[in-house]
Amino acid sequence: KTDISTISEKTLSSILEKNRTYYTQGKVADYIPELGKMDAKAIAFSVVGKNGRVLNVGDVHKKFTMQSISKIIALMIAVNEKGEANVFDKMGYFGTDKPFNYFSNLETTGKPLNPMMNAGAILTTSLISGEGEKPFLKILDMVRYITKDQTIGYNTSVYESEKSTGHRNRGMFYLMKNNGLISGNEDQLDNYFKQCSIELTAEDLAKIGYFFANECVRFDGDAQYKNVELAKLVESQMLIAGMYEFSGEYARTVGLPSKSGVGGGITVSVPGKMGIGVFSPALDQHGNSSAGYHMILDLVKQYDLSLF
Ligand code: GLU
Repeated sequence: KTDISTISEKTLSSILEKNRTYYTQGKVADYIPELGKMDAKAIAFSVVGKNGRVLNVGDVHKKFTMQSISKIIALMIAVNEKGEANVFDKMGYFGTDKPFNYFSNLETTGKPLNPMMNAGAILTTSLISGEGEKPFLKILDMVRYITKDQTIGYNTSVYESEKSTGHRNRGMFYLMKNNGLISGNEDQLDNYFKQCSIELTAEDLAKIGYFFANECVRFDGDAQYKNVELAKLVESQMLIAGMYEFSGEYARTVGLPSKSGVGGGITVSVPGKMGIGVFSPALDQHGNSSAGYHMILDLVKQYDLSLF
């Protein structure tokens, strides 16, 4: 096996340049109008390895919204507060062959498939305690903690755009309310839209990947949230459903717990080793960053990082 301590910014840079043009094969998400304004050519690649060593190449300062990647943070908080059994009494551990906004089996069993797709994620956020904006602020604080960056905030234009066009998510919210899974009001859905609009960099995503890869220990060694079981839970959900309906094929080609978002980011956990963060906003037909996927794939092949 190639020694991962030899990964350098030069390594990342050559992988980035090789895959830079993949953005032409994808399309920037525009179903949320504000997202359509992103620069399709932007690209960044980060790795956070042993002892918190940070490597960054590309548009390292470029911020983008974390979108679905926020779902793993919400899951962590809900499980910490309510316990795994109570959260998964309301939703499944199932994998998926369906896109992120699938109505799930809300009409049949009444419960979402998993906490990684929108239905389960909206439900997960509604389980975090606190009035009004409080649950969202807990998610934001956790992102700030993991990345050690108190300046992280959310993009209010993207939030407004999601809120005014997210009728499908609103439909799921009310169906789950009808099924007795959600008891609160639409503030809870607002919290979901806000968490999706949190803005960060590829480096921040690599730090999030590192955190779950290392038993919920932060890149600088801070262990106040250390929790082996929680890390296993989150990573297992990322592995089976983190890449939408592409998750199965991705497990075959990359073979690592990963979560993507329609903002163009992907966070990857290499268990016990490191975190990877990529950003490139043009998405493939499954809603995953096109260039981002190929950069991850090349690094994984070069250093034999697959779990399998
Ligand atoms: N805010 C997006 C939505 O709910 C998140 C989707 C995603 O990143 O997969 O439509």
